[in-house]
Amino acid sequence: MAINTINPTTGETVKTFDELTSAQLEAKLQLAATTFQTYRHTSFADRARSMTRAAEILESEKQEFGRLMTIEMGKPVKAAISEAEKCALVCRYYAENAQQHLADQVVETNAKRSYVHFQPLGPVLAVMPWNFPFWQVFRFAAPALMAGNVGLLKHASNVPQCALAIEEIFRRAGFPEGAFQTLLIGSDKVEDILKDARVVAATLTGSEPAGSSVASIAGKAIKKTVLELGGSDPFIVMPSANLAEAVTTAVKARTINNGQSCIAAKRFIVAAEIYNDFEQRFVEQMKALRVGDPLNEETDIGPLATSQILTDLDEQVKRAVAEGARVLSGGKRLDRPGNFYEPTVLVDINPSGPVSCEEIFGPVAMLFRVNDIDEAIRLANATPFGLGSAAWTNDRGEQHRFIEELEAGSVFINGMVASDPRLPFGGVKHSGYGRELAEFGIREFVNIKTVWIGESKAATEDTE
Ligand code: NAP
Repeated sequence: MAINTINPTTGETVKTFDELTSAQLEAKLQLAATTFQTYRHTSFADRARSMTRAAEILESEKQEFGRLMTIEMGKPVKAAISEAEKCALVCRYYAENAQQHLADQVVETNAKRSYVHFQPLGPVLAVMPWNFPFWQVFRFAAPALMAGNVGLLKHASNVPQCALAIEEIFRRAGFPEGAFQTLLIGSDKVEDILKDARVVAATLTGSEPAGSSVASIAGKAIKKTVLELGGSDPFIVMPSANLAEAVTTAVKARTINNGQSCIAAKRFIVAAEIYNDFEQRFVEQMKALRVGDPLNEETDIGPLATSQILTDLDEQVKRAVAEGARVLSGGKRLDRPGNFYEPTVLVDINPSGPVSCEEIFGPVAMLFRVNDIDEAIRLANATPFGLGSAAWTNDRGEQHRFIEELEAGSVFINGMVASDPRLPFGGVKHSGYGRELAEFGIREFVNIKTVWIGESKAATEDTE
């Protein structure tokens, strides 16, 4: 895939980039390895100073960074600016908490003293997607750098300017030159990097095939990976829920980021008792969304990030219809330049047809009617994915069952799934493994070293 900025609103190629040559790539890998040898010994206070500075840069230049994200991948500019703010939040969170998350943990044993000691691992490769082009990178980089690791970023090929801007933020914040480097390379170069002895671990956020490939190559080389992959999150609404709030949140949860979010609610599973009401209000609100230029602050939905995503989405909707689904609104691309697709509602989806189990990456919602909580849980779990889940109910017993029985990395009751630096984030099943954020995230790429110190007579006592 060529490394280009192609504005998804216009289809215009804004800027093209050359891939790194082999010699340039080699120099960057070597710089990462040598930088790690000194960077690993820096204090938490030093790292926190630079990380806080990175937060300040993000905050003070959020408008420019927001615009850049919108031009490269089409998200509404207001959301892009919020994304830059959220990146500042994760930088501050780890600047303030990393030392405590990685403090020695004393454990009482038969030793004179035994404890757990956390040490950085080395250069970590991060393979990242375009959909949250800043956030995905910062939620990896902030904990990794605070732990004393160094980062190598292979960003998605359609967001090279975001990738370079992030590298520049860390450099300006005061991190050493090799602490965080962007590699402008295609995905065909990832295998060699994973096999390189200087790179010790990898994290990938992206699709299942990419995750599976990275994990198998890294696994062969016995290197740790964290995978954050796709999702087809259920959004369940039971009769005791506040319907007005549930519908408004449902529309937002489906269409956030132009519908291209791993944790977007994708399947709406609604109790029969309230289904008709839910459907009517949901369709009304989907139809009312303003689709258009993402640089306009009034826009709710911009274009899909690439023309390929538009083609794939259109084809997926057509397949759903061929399997028996009905289109209640939308259902086609907009007749204008750019990768625009109408906000779409599908009903009567064949629950055993392939589309109901696939991830739909765009503003297309699937509505399902269920008779009771057992059917809701069964349907919610009937996908290969297990990223997030949301359930709306004011019944304590139902809440308990959803928390216990939904197969997902998170359960949000009466809310929409969202990431928060203070809470772990990740999935089960084909949505991946490992966790990002909170103390769980920072402990993924460290050596959790057991230290055991026993009693021993001094050498001088032995020789007496
Ligand atoms: P993608 O095609 O897998 O791309 C993601 C990254 O992986 C890009 O940098 C891409 O590089 C690289 N890549 C692709 N194939 C690869 C391979 N065989 N080996 C190594 N690297 C490879 O994913 P996408 O379509 O851009 O992103 C959307 C997917 O990401 C969705 O499934 C979404 O749910 C998932 N996602 C998950 C999370 C989460 O936290 N769980 C968050 C956001 C997105 P190129 O661009 O050069 O191909």
